[in-house]
Amino acid sequence: MIDIVDAKFITSAPNVGAAPEAQEQNEVVFMARSNVGKSSLLNALTNHKGLAKVSSTPGKTKLINYFDVTFLDRDTSTKLIAKFVDLPGFGYAKVAKSMKHDWEKNLTDYIANREEIKIFIHLIDCRHPHLEIDTEVNDFLLQTIQENQYIIQIFTKIDKLNQKEQSALRREFPNALMVSSSKKRGMNKIVKVIYDILKVNVDAN
Ligand code: GDP
Repeated sequence: MIDIVDAKFITSAPNVGAAPEAQEQNEVVFMARSNVGKSSLLNALTNHKGLAKVSSTPGKTKLINYFDVTFLDRDTSTKLIAKFVDLPGFGYAKVAKSMKHDWEKNLTDYIANREEIKIFIHLIDCRHPHLEIDTEVNDFLLQTIQENQYIIQIFTKIDKLNQKEQSALRREFPNALMVSSSKKRGMNKIVKVIYDILKVNVDAN
């Protein structure tokens, strides 16, 4: 059983240049359109209600927020520390013409050049799985990621779908994870998937 036993806010950076130095390649980046439930998920995963601000104002946060997060493998008593990175919500523009228009250039640069990033977590509202902006983000990530980086797609607010709709979504996106922060469903799985990827990286170094 893997748990997140500690999480604390480190700093906010307005741009890539101000990002904190990282010793290890252990950053987990969370990205989503505004209002998809990123803050709620960060709070639920870390069991820390006020860690990330839950806001009903789309696009309010424009800073990159950093959190130090401690994982504990209860079977082996092994601890692992990672950085969770909360990127500003994208999709302010009404029509998503291209990533560059929708998302500040320095964010795309960040994603492409920050070698410390090990996992990209792309959150998608389960009720809108086919938005152009999300397809663009996914394509951008697929083009950009290096060999040692991973993309995890997570559908949020799964409590909004009935069983039949959930099954259909699962069939269509067999590799994606599903989560409900409000009903606390799917948390353990996400924590374990993140831990397992980071652990392999730590062991290899
Ligand atoms: P963010 O902008 O991506 O950080 O999204 P927030 O975490 O601020 O959530 C946006 C809205 O969605 C808020 O009103 C949350 O209460 C709601 N929300 C977040 N997660 C869930 C969930 O799992 N289920 C439901 N039903 N609502 C959620």
